[in-house]
Amino acid sequence: MASNIRSEEVLSVHHWNDTLFSFRTTRDQAFRFENGHFTMIGLEQEGKPLLRAYSMVSANYEDELEFFSIKVQDGPLTSKLQHLQPGDQLLVSQKATGSLILDKLLPGKNLYLIATGTGLAPFMSIIKDPEVYERYEKVILTHGVRQVNELAYSEYITDEIFSNEFFGEVAREKLVYYPTVTREPFVNEGRLTDALVSGKLAEQVGLPPVNTEDDRFMLCGSPSMLKDFTGLLEQMGFEENVSGDQGHWVVERAFVEK
Ligand SMILES: Cc1cc2nc3c(=O)[nH]c(=O)nc-3n(C[C@H](O)[C@H](O)[C@H](O)COP(=O)(O)OP(=O)(O)OC[C@H]3O[C@@H](n4cnc5c(N)ncnc54)[C@H](O)[C@@H]3O)c2cc1C
Repeated sequence: MASNIRSEEVLSVHHWNDTLFSFRTTRDQAFRFENGHFTMIGLEQEGKPLLRAYSMVSANYEDELEFFSIKVQDGPLTSKLQHLQPGDQLLVSQKATGSLILDKLLPGKNLYLIATGTGLAPFMSIIKDPEVYERYEKVILTHGVRQVNELAYSEYITDEIFSNEFFGEVAREKLVYYPTVTREPFVNEGRLTDALVSGKLAEQVGLPPVNTEDDRFMLCGSPSMLKDFTGLLEQMGFEENVSGDQGHWVVERAFVEK
């Protein structure tokens, strides 16, 4: 097996519903990553590693690793991964990477984190990063899903995070949650792209209409959402790369359509 792949022990597993689950594992002290990064994780299959890209839900200072996963019934990895039990071994590559990094954005006032489905995962580590509250006046975490029971981590985002001894107070002031559901009645309904175009997103979170001066975006979700949303941002004058490596927005796919 490649020398950068380590075996970690599964510590706990939580099933949100029939299609989504999360799990925590031990973490090798030497495994370093930035909040927002992803790595390759998986299982050993017939003596070979079967790995897929996964974002870390856990922040880079936590002792354990946490991941948030889809269950694809005929998916090579997740058809098996969904049966993980505490005590099982998980393969974790020690090489993390990704573009959802605070340093890749130009300075701004408000940070919009635009997620659909498991695209929420990298933003869970970002909202646990004290640095994000130093850089921005408001951090708006959106989560677009089909059904209400797919709003994973909503209790953590609306309640538990505020008890954090280091950044709970500042998160209470600055973190705004905007969940939206497309296929069931809910307090916010419809697609995130529509909420952006209509101005509803900014209005609902109590901010002026989005503008290139103040607002920055990180996006992670389905390929179609990303295509539509970044197209809209471009029409509004936002750019991915403005100067050097920095821009008004950065993007990462939550999965690849095969
Ligand atoms: C940069 C990056 C980060 C990723 N982070 C995560 C993550 O944090 N959590 C996670 O669950 N997956 C994540 N993925 C997707 C992941 O790598 C796998 O595709 C997923 O685990 C399914 O693996 P599989 O072998 O079972 O099926 P695959 O053969 O990989 O996928 C089969 C099909 O399932 C669908 N699919 C795959 N993943 C998803 C998903 N997450 N949501 C909705 N539909 C999906 C697609 O239509 C895909 O064609 C990420 C992908 C990329 C590129």
